[in-house]
Amino acid sequence: MGSEQKRFDEQKRRVYLFVLPIIAASLGLNLLITEEVRLVQVINIILLLGIIVCWGLFWTRLPLTVPELTILALSLLYLLTAILSSLFVDMLAQGKPRVGDFILYMPLVVVLGFLILERKQAVVASFTLLLLMIAPAIPVWGSLTNSQIESLITLYVSLFVYTFLAYFLHILYRRRAEQRAIARFAYIDALTGAANRHRIDEWLAEKVEQADREGTEFSVILFDMDHFKQVNDRYGHKTGDDVLRQMADIVRMQLGPGELFGRWGGEEFIIITDEELPGAVALAGRLCEAIGSHHFGKAGKVTASFGVAGELPGDTPERLLNRADERMYHSKRTGRNRVTGETAVE
Ligand code: GH3
Ligand code: MG
Ligand code: MG
Repeated sequence: MGSEQKRFDEQKRRVYLFVLPIIAASLGLNLLITEEVRLVQVINIILLLGIIVCWGLFWTRLPLTVPELTILALSLLYLLTAILSSLFVDMLAQGKPRVGDFILYMPLVVVLGFLILERKQAVVASFTLLLLMIAPAIPVWGSLTNSQIESLITLYVSLFVYTFLAYFLHILYRRRAEQRAIARFAYIDALTGAANRHRIDEWLAEKVEQADREGTEFSVILFDMDHFKQVNDRYGHKTGDDVLRQMADIVRMQLGPGELFGRWGGEEFIIITDEELPGAVALAGRLCEAIGSHHFGKAGKVTASFGVAGELPGDTPERLLNRADERMYHSKRTGRNRVTGETAVE
């Protein structure tokens, strides 16, 4: 899952690189069109500079959290300054009926919090922000007009609503991501990264059905590592695991697009190919050669025995597999490290 996290971070980095210039431009525009110089404008400039610096940081290999937390801290500072300036300058001193336009940025800051922090931390941060916005209004509540009070209450309620919305969206998004990961790993063998038995069963059922319906051809190749118990006994189970991983890599390198590879169980694997029997026997020969000629580190040379069967009209997955299995055991009986596409008995 480490690489998943890395991919996610890379995507996030790209989003920041794209979104920050837009936010910076809107802040810059805001600064240009307001004439009075007030505390909020100063903070606006600090925020703008901070965003530009952080944008630069997102280009570096620095951990994402450094610029992320900086932006979050600056945004919170911006909101707090904005509420103070709105409350004491705009509303109390100048008698304006409503809090300023800064509230338009509030949902953005809440979303940013949930993007950067863990869910619980983000909720705590949001409610702390809410308290910090309520606190300065309490001592002067009595001096506010009705419309000013309404405006403040709207601000508080919307901050509360945005927090809840972000909270539930976060839960939903996480759950969906987890479901996708589970679905992906439910079909994959953890050791070799090949498909697992469950997936292979589905593939075989689909292939047989397609062959019946459309008359398409396909073949299966079963193979089993030779004397694998000895590998474990001599070099340990860990080395055995390592051989299986390397072998899976070798096989994948030989397979073309559309050729399916899975772990049938233990040290036995399966390949499903659209080739007819002769083509599949040739493919098995190449795999046998590639595995047999590879040097598996500590374990040295390790070989595998192959059995190949082409799908015949009226085959069930079971019958097809039985034929491949019999041929694989024929390879075992006749000296291993070989491919059988048809036995003498047949
Ligand atoms: P043969 O050539 O007849 O196939 O001999 P073999 O020793 O390979 O056959 P056997 O079925 O007796 O032994 C298979 C061994 O494969 C035994 C089992 O411990 C080992 N094995 C199965 N799965 C794994 C695995 O995931 N990791 C490791 N290290 N060993 C495994
Ligand atoms: Mg074996
Ligand atoms: Mg076996």
